[in-house]
Amino acid sequence: SYTDYDLVIVGSGFFGLTIAERVATELDKRVLVLERRSHLGGNAYSEREPETGIEVHRYGAHLFHTSNARVWEYCNRFTAFTGYQHRVFAKVADQVYAFPMNLALINQFFGKSHSPTEARALIAEQAGEIDTKDAKNLEEKGISLVGRPLYEAFVKGYTAKQWQTDPTQLDASIISRLPVRYTFDNRYFNDTFEGLPVDGYTAWLTRMADHPNIEVRTDVDYFDVRDEIPAGTPTVYTGPLDAYFGNSEGALSWRTLDFEQEVLDDCGDFQGTTVVNYNDEEVPYTRILEFRHFHPERDYPTDKTVIVREFSRFAEPGDEPYYPVNTPDDRAKLLRYRELARKETANANVLFGGRLGTYKYLDMHMAIGSALSMFDNRIAPYFTDGKALAGTESAED
Ligand code: FAD
Ligand code: UDP
Repeated sequence: SYTDYDLVIVGSGFFGLTIAERVATELDKRVLVLERRSHLGGNAYSEREPETGIEVHRYGAHLFHTSNARVWEYCNRFTAFTGYQHRVFAKVADQVYAFPMNLALINQFFGKSHSPTEARALIAEQAGEIDTKDAKNLEEKGISLVGRPLYEAFVKGYTAKQWQTDPTQLDASIISRLPVRYTFDNRYFNDTFEGLPVDGYTAWLTRMADHPNIEVRTDVDYFDVRDEIPAGTPTVYTGPLDAYFGNSEGALSWRTLDFEQEVLDDCGDFQGTTVVNYNDEEVPYTRILEFRHFHPERDYPTDKTVIVREFSRFAEPGDEPYYPVNTPDDRAKLLRYRELARKETANANVLFGGRLGTYKYLDMHMAIGSALSMFDNRIAPYFTDGKALAGTESAED
């Protein structure tokens, strides 16, 4: 039955579970979480590969990092973190470079040592054709940051494979995720806090849901049971925004990934590190993940390893939507969906959140941070002071 709950949450990823945990713990209300998949946790879910015991992130490598002290403190209530620091290597032609763009990469690529000042001058000269503040899309932003030769070697082919969309149609913010440094620092993230959950993502996610006020039902698609939920039941929807409205404004474009997992029985170490990007356009996959290296502190078998090749393509109906593509055409549709979402919040008490529900490229810490804000600004005032769920500003800001 669907009548005994104060709040229904659609989706058991970090967004949904953060709301569930807060409402159950802070407000002592009863929460029902509906999850379409056969397990909780959303895309951060991980499991041990049965032959080797190596923890594999089933929906792609998940690295936790944040500079938000509140989010970090919140996460540490449910898990301890290892000292893992993410580093990525990039394979171009027959060389492997320490990524992201840094002094070692610049020196290796140009076959000559440069001081930080010399490297800055070199890149400034190569990037001079476009001013960063005038860059309107991913291609212009990329060239303005690193210059054309590095853009063509490290960004163009990878981005073509990852997005299969003309880089002039992609948002400049996508590339702003990648730092450019004139030091030998090749840490992937600039954040204050970083690490991996000591006993895995699934243990962390399971502990968030472990409360007598929370019930998680897996293998349930919200759209199959929506009619059984009493009208007006406060609901937090974290599935795809377009799907909620039956694609009435046209489907938004999403990218999906195919993961090809392989257990190597005769090799204890395939690539010596967690992630190697394959930047050449001719190689069909974007990157290879080797999961043993995420947890060097664990006692994994030394004669076997698990690798996953990642392929990217447009999501078709029935595929898992992973990345919002967010072309100008998508942004026009998105405005219309946001208007529908606003009305749905006001009329039917449904809030929209998370990566799919807002069509935003959210990292885990951003999904958690945004759920904590939704709890503070919308959900707690609704239950404690009888305020409208719609609040005063739009649900997706
Ligand atoms: P999700 O985790 O996607 O959860 C949404 C849930 O809703 C899913 O379980 C889905 O099955 C369920 N659902 C959807 N529709 C329905 C329905 N109709 N009925 C019932 N259930 C439904 N973040 C980082 O911080 N670091 C990383 O390194 C990182 N790497 C990533 C790599 C990949 C390949 C991807 C795709 C994401 C990555 N992320 C990373 C982002 C991270 O996965 C998200 O920030 C996080 O999962 C967001 O949580 P969420 O709850 O919004 O969404
Ligand atoms: N990117 C690139 N070359 C790389 C890695 C990333 O050009 O070797 C670009 C690409 O457009 C990608 C974006 O930078 O989509 C963000 O990269 P990130 O590694 O943050 O992507 P994610 O891990 O979310 O897939």
